[in-house]
Parts: sequence; C-alpha cells; structure tokens
Amino acid sequence: MWFFSLKNSQYRVEFKEALSTGLAPDKGLFFPEKIPQISKNFINQISEHNLYDLTFEVIYPYVTNTITKEYLKKIIRETLSFPFPIQAIKKDIYALELFHGPTLSFKDIGAQFMARCINYFQIDHPSKITVLVATSGDTGGAVANGFYKVPNVKVLILYPSKKVSPLQELQLTTLGENVSAIEVEGDFDDCQSLVKSAFLDEQLQKKITLTSANSINIARWLPQMIYYFIAYRSLIGGKSNKKIVFSVPSGNFGNLCAGMMTSKMGLPIEHFIASTNINDTVPRFMQNGIYSPIESKATISNAMDVADPSNLGRLLHLHPYYKDLQKYMTAYSFSDYQTIDSIQKIWKNTGYMLDPHGAIAYLGLEQYFNKKGRDSSTIGVFLATAHPVKFVNKFPQKFRSQICIPDTLKPMMKKNKKRSRISKDYSTFKRYLLDKI
Ligand SMILES: *Cc1c(COP(=O)(O)O)cnc(C)c1O
Repeated sequence: MWFFSLKNSQYRVEFKEALSTGLAPDKGLFFPEKIPQISKNFINQISEHNLYDLTFEVIYPYVTNTITKEYLKKIIRETLSFPFPIQAIKKDIYALELFHGPTLSFKDIGAQFMARCINYFQIDHPSKITVLVATSGDTGGAVANGFYKVPNVKVLILYPSKKVSPLQELQLTTLGENVSAIEVEGDFDDCQSLVKSAFLDEQLQKKITLTSANSINIARWLPQMIYYFIAYRSLIGGKSNKKIVFSVPSGNFGNLCAGMMTSKMGLPIEHFIASTNINDTVPRFMQNGIYSPIESKATISNAMDVADPSNLGRLLHLHPYYKDLQKYMTAYSFSDYQTIDSIQKIWKNTGYMLDPHGAIAYLGLEQYFNKKGRDSSTIGVFLATAHPVKFVNKFPQKFRSQICIPDTLKPMMKKNKKRSRISKDYSTFKRYLLDKI
C-alpha cells in the first residue's frame, strides 16, 4: 500500500515512512492510494469474527509489505488490551465507551498502536529517537503511555502550565523512565510553537532524530476505524434491516474521518454526525461551503477546542464538494451550557454519567433525530471518548462526588510529580534538548 501527499499525488511512500515522517515534505497529509474493500460476505458474517481478527482484516491491507502478519497480530492484541463496552442510554441510543485504556481516553488506541509500530521498525535498525508532543491534555498522556519503556525512544511532553486538569498532569508527570514532562509557562499554542520550531531547526536535527506523534500521523489515525466496526458488529451483526448512525465528538476530525474511511471500505453506515463545541468551523462550513476558521475559544470539552481542524483535508479528499459531503455528514455545535445541561439530564433520567465530550456527541445525535425524524429501524451510536473523571474539575460541584476514580488509577495518585519548568522562549527549550537528550 502506498500513501501519497494530499498536496502532491506524485509523492508516495510506504506505511513505514509515512509513519516516521508524519507529514510529507511539502507539509501535505498522507492518504492511502487505494481504499481497500471489505467484502459483503465478511460484513454479513461480521459477528463470527472476534475483535482481533476483525481488526486484522481492517488494518492489514494498509501495512502490507512493511509489517508481517504475525507481528501485526501481536500489535493488535497488545493495543486492544481493554474492553469496549456499549451502553444502552435510551431506546435505540447507545454509547460506545472508548475510554477504558490506560489513560482513559480513546486516544490510547492510536497511541498504543503507533508506539508498537515504531518499536517494530526499531528491531532491525535500532537508532535513538525522540518523540516530541505538545498537549492540551489528552494526547500527551496517551502518547507517553504508549511509548513508555519502548527501547531507544525518548518521549518529551510539553504541556501548558495550569491549563491541564490535575489528573491529566499526574498522567504526564508520574511515569518517569523514558518519559519526561515539561511544564511550559504559556498556553497550548506556545507549547505547539516550541515543538514546531524544533522541527524546523536544522542544527538541532543534525544532533537529534525527532519524531512527532500528533494526531495526523497515519499510525494514530487509521486504527480508529475499528471503533465503527466494533459498534456495527455488536448492534447490527447480521440484521441487515437495521441502519446505524454515528455521532462523533470532533476537534481535529481524525476520529470522524476514520469513520468515513470505513464507509468507503464497505461498512454500511447510514450517516455521520460531527458534533463540536462552540469551535464551530466545520458546522459553519457545512452550511455554506465557506471555510473560515476563527481563533479557538476555551470550553469545558477542551480536547475539541480546535479552530482549524487538521484532518479536514482528508475529509474533503473523500468528498470534495460540501453539498456532496452533506449527504453523508451533518454537523452541529453546542455550548458549555448545553453540555452541562445534558450531563445533568442524562444522569438524572438514566444514572449514566457522560463526560463533556461524550455529552456533545449525545446532543448531536438527539438533534439529528429531532430534525430529521427517525424510523424504528435506525440505531444511533455516539462515541464516548473520555472517562468523566478526567474532567471532574469542569463539573458542577454537586456532581463531583458521584464520579468514581477507577481502581487502575489509584497507584498513580500516590506518586510524585516530576517535571521541568521552562519559559516559552525557544532558546531555553533548545538548550534543554541539547543537554538532556
Ligand atoms: C482528542 C479528543 C476528541 C477529538 O477527536 P478528534 O479526532 O481530534 O476529532 C474528542 N474527545 C476527546 C476526549 C479527545 O481527547
């Protein structure tokens, strides 16, 4: 399988290179040259495949020639080492819980997969690499955990001082070993610009091999296709008279775009709902085809505070004209007030606790069914992307005691935070890199 740059279809590389470079040299996103097809027969018998075989069928065509079948199976088993429960919330409305991984967000799946692929490529050609990540919260923990103790890999996580939740900070700063956390006196954009400057610094690149693990990397993006197959397998199985609609809480639109890929591969999905917070660049675009990002605004669903979603290029490659895209996807945006209100209502009526991101996805589904009406053959699924405990500080006070900390996190709560503090000045960061790496 070849991956080409969306800025120049002549530039093609295989999975391994697309993974290690992240972006093409012309800064284009990588995209698979052909979209592999899953047979109707396979779809009709999907319930007979276990999670690992199903994932193998979906992913293998993308990595042929670069990872052996046997090793890919091992990577899949290790990546999907936790459950993906589906919870009924109301009649024909389900939450697909993607937050039972080590750092309690769906980003664990892509991060664990990517780290294991890098580890595989290191086996024959060991060389020291440094993974640099700027995070506003969820990404850093997932990436750090994915690469934890991977030989020859050092991970540096930059996070904005006082802007991540206390639990997220613990997840970044207590791992140790090959993972170092850097608290930057600035905001997320400052962290990101330090990382960008390092990638552009040729003098630095001569001394250190840097890799980025951000969400546009194909090895983080593609494994997410599996969520849609999991929900389809459990809720539709062989029942071809049922239809399925997905609502995806979206920021950079990687997750949603992975879902659209599964449609193109042949998974029968009726419709997608892109649910955003007030950072509504895509919902506005879907109205009139005009793409006009404005500065991002802080919300309680902060993993989606993105004004200029980096995966939109991929989405538009699949459906270049917005009127065409409208047939497959509807986009809605919701305020913090609506988010909290829906968390409270669902809790009161059903006893189910949503996190702010999942709540936005739930709202999207509700709005879609209210507007379009629904027939009894349609099932709605929203992706619950994070555990509510990660965002407990965003909840109204009276709610906080209802949210239990999962047992798996308890040992971490007792550890000491270790991090370096630096200013947002690039020369300080560069000195840090040259001294410590
Ligand atoms: C990153 C994140 C999102 C947004 O996912 P994208 O693929 O960037 O659209 C949604 N929810 C949570 C909890 C996240 O961490």
